[in-house]
Amino acid sequence: MSRVYNFSAGPAVLPEEVLKEAADEMLDYKGTGMSVMEMSHRSKAYDTIIKEAEADLREIMNIPDNYKVLFLQGGASQQFAMIPMNLMKNKVADYIVTGQWAKKAFQEASIYGKANKIASSEDETFSYIPDCSDLPVSEDADYVYICENNTIYGTKFHTLPNTKGKTLVSDVSSCFLSEPVDVTKYGIIYGGVQKNIGPAGVVIVIIREDLITEDTLPGTPTMLKYKTHADNDSLYNTPPAYGIYICGKVFKWIKKQGGLEAMKEHNEKKAAILYNFLDESKLFKGTVRKEDRSLMNVPFVTGDAELDAKFVKEAKEAGFENLKGHRTVGGMRASIYNAMPIEGVEKLVEFMKKFEAENC
Ligand SMILES: *Cc1c(COP(=O)(O)O)cnc(C)c1O
Repeated sequence: MSRVYNFSAGPAVLPEEVLKEAADEMLDYKGTGMSVMEMSHRSKAYDTIIKEAEADLREIMNIPDNYKVLFLQGGASQQFAMIPMNLMKNKVADYIVTGQWAKKAFQEASIYGKANKIASSEDETFSYIPDCSDLPVSEDADYVYICENNTIYGTKFHTLPNTKGKTLVSDVSSCFLSEPVDVTKYGIIYGGVQKNIGPAGVVIVIIREDLITEDTLPGTPTMLKYKTHADNDSLYNTPPAYGIYICGKVFKWIKKQGGLEAMKEHNEKKAAILYNFLDESKLFKGTVRKEDRSLMNVPFVTGDAELDAKFVKEAKEAGFENLKGHRTVGGMRASIYNAMPIEGVEKLVEFMKKFEAENC
């Protein structure tokens, strides 16, 4: 068996330990004689799996009791509609557009009410985070929306926006559990898990209880009401059961690593190795304003599209997979999520140095 260093933006690398454990339990989960994939979601064994997953996530993120944790389906993109359908009581919401994902969420919200773009960094191809200390937040906004880590462009909000008392809703798909967060600052924190936590198909929504109401937009499907899932502990219908089981294992892995403080330290160390090299390289350079850099997604270019393509090809041959930048940006992107080992980044930088010497 040989595993590559997988720099994919998502679905992405998972801890090897977790994959091995899942493999060991594949045919017979803890004496049940069946795989978790084959198990009733109403069974005792599965009840323990989902309850433990929630309890571990609550512990890791220090989630207060007045927040619900929901394990849903439809990916992060389903939330682009679910959020306005459930939260737009005044039919007004403010969006800070710092990349394609925030833009998609903004466009989706416009279907349901008045979505205002109160700040954007599109003028410089989303290479920075705008100053959000004094934005024209709408008087009657039901919420202010951000995408906290911009997977495609490699920027991150290191300071949350001043929402002037309005509920903050944040898409954390690509920085989920990468560092400590203060949950109380948010109305909703949500993310697709396939970037940093588990298999695609699960989206986790952490939502303050007062935002869960019957009062949704007319026509909101039962499955798209937070209340439906909150009232049924994420078991209204069959949940993405196997995916949640893997998420639960990753939560335990994070606890074993020392929790989110330790994750942050580990992620800062990894990112510094790559950014420090980019800052001194004669060939490669980062594309993002330094103070807004993401710890998770690191885009870079040589400035020459042909050379970029050559790099991606040779890197792949050397065992570094998925370094091609997003199709809308070009260049390269190394996603270095929680499960990327430090030696993966060290070896990548070694390879980049070699490529630079050969091509400069
Ligand atoms: C990947 C991603 C999405 C989309 O996730 P899906 O699960 O494919 O819908 C949304 N937001 C961010 C920040 C992402 O990285």
